[in-house]
Amino acid sequence: MHWEGIIRHYARFFTPVPDDCVVTLLEGNTPLIPAPALARVIAPGTEIFLKYEGLNPTGSFKDRGMTMAVSMAKASGADSIICASTGNTSAAAAAYAARAGMKAFVLIPEGKIALGKLSQAMIHGAQVLQILGNFDDALSLVCEVSEKYPVTLVNSVNPYRIEGQKSGAFEVCDALGDAPTYHVLPVGNAGNITAYWAGYKAYHEVGKSARLPRMLGWQAEGSAPIVRGHAIAKPETVATAIRIGNPASWKSAEAARDESGGSIGMVSDAEILEAYKLVAETEGVFCEPASAASIAGVIKSSKQGLFSKGDSIVCTLTGHGLKDPDNAIAQSIAPVTMPPNMADVVRVLGFS
Ligand SMILES: *Cc1c(COP(=O)(O)O)cnc(C)c1O
Repeated sequence: MHWEGIIRHYARFFTPVPDDCVVTLLEGNTPLIPAPALARVIAPGTEIFLKYEGLNPTGSFKDRGMTMAVSMAKASGADSIICASTGNTSAAAAAYAARAGMKAFVLIPEGKIALGKLSQAMIHGAQVLQILGNFDDALSLVCEVSEKYPVTLVNSVNPYRIEGQKSGAFEVCDALGDAPTYHVLPVGNAGNITAYWAGYKAYHEVGKSARLPRMLGWQAEGSAPIVRGHAIAKPETVATAIRIGNPASWKSAEAARDESGGSIGMVSDAEILEAYKLVAETEGVFCEPASAASIAGVIKSSKQGLFSKGDSIVCTLTGHGLKDPDNAIAQSIAPVTMPPNMADVVRVLGFS
């Protein structure tokens, strides 16, 4: 069947969007990749699946929410959108604004976003402001600007973002025939865990799935406000996409955790980077560091004896590894430089 993007495919679950206002790059329909080799290593006896959101049009799950938010902005007659971003929201906002013929304004924390993401916002023609502060500072600014001036806010405080992001849960159920035992994902501003849980509940209510998963959210140790129970003034982590000290969807993330019988925990940067390499090496799947917090979380939960034989575990890999090649190179063995000489090449390759 021809894929028309999430708004048209899952129309019955969304606020109606006038058809001529649908702004889509045919996001969604991303693969749910079985990861048997990874499961054998990190959680033997379970089935692990990777929801590879890096294959969305701008390379992250943010496209699912942005198609809804920008379409609704268009329906309301807006001609510009604004967001704060650790990178991927700005990439998606810039691309969907370009598609809609709108202007995008993005505020990013200076020096703290992966180069791939910055390049996307720039090439799509967004006006980029680097704030000498962190994501949380940028978010308060754009909230205030959008209250006072005629520009639509497309951060996940915009309810249509969360609505569109529910489609990730629908696709998981469509692929597996039911919800998994556990759904695992990184938590930054906490919109995605909120959206997945809402999506699983919506599907369950109409009988599209028989059960509900337990939601397992993971923050980075240096940016773990929900785990620690207070906002973090200066969040730090190598996983820049979840470098957030005061999540907008804090309360609804806790509700997702509690209603589902799940948990929100934290992993160190070292654990995140180890998981980032492991999934790339064992399964051939390249995600960005923040995404690997989900894998690191499965490793930690497995060591604590959480999982039982036959459990199905879905990990959302939120963004593509190519967004942040600097980290990949820093974590890998450097290429060998050598003369174009057969004897040397076969020796270094270990054939002689
Ligand atoms: C936005 C983002 C996150 C965090 O999602 P929240 O909805 O803010 O919790 C995690 N990983 C990547 C790659 C992201 O772009």
